[in-house]
Amino acid sequence: MTRTSRRLLRRLATLGSDPQPISPRTAAMRPRTEGAELTLSVCPYCAVGCSQRVYHRGGEILSIEGNPESPISAGHLCPKGAATYQLHVNPHRITSVLYRAPYSDRWEQRPLGWAMERVAQLIRTTRDRGFVERTESGERVNHCLTIASLGGATLDNEENYLIKKLLTGGLGIIPIENQARI
Ligand code: SF4
Repeated sequence: MTRTSRRLLRRLATLGSDPQPISPRTAAMRPRTEGAELTLSVCPYCAVGCSQRVYHRGGEILSIEGNPESPISAGHLCPKGAATYQLHVNPHRITSVLYRAPYSDRWEQRPLGWAMERVAQLIRTTRDRGFVERTESGERVNHCLTIASLGGATLDNEENYLIKKLLTGGLGIIPIENQARI
């Protein structure tokens, strides 16, 4: 072994034992989540359902990070999930809908609450119109075959459970399908 190699090996052996070059300013800094309240949540983007830690204070979200205690994701989030914070805190977030009334040739901007109410009313009308309590032979079925539900990949077990409970148990809707089966 040459002298240079020995010197290099000695240097490698001591690496990591040097004091870290942290400036007083850096050492005095505190994490923005310090003292914040913590709520566990689930990533809204896909049915893998990675767990998230949502840090908040006074109703304001400070940070959303992976939850190391999750048996699914062990603290990891993919790039989409890691960007969940900007889903909440984003000036470009769309908060209204575009609506084109029947026979109209133009779109109108309406509040999201108005759209939710309209969807609920249309479901109610269609369901009541299509609801069958008994078949012609008198068999009780209590079903509605004029509405179907197709879920996307963002729906996880809990949401699908609620959808099934509301649509089938509550409204009698039979055709319910979902893209993801996790
Ligand atoms: S989008 Fe990414 S972080 Fe979110 S649940 Fe799916 S895999 Fe996990």
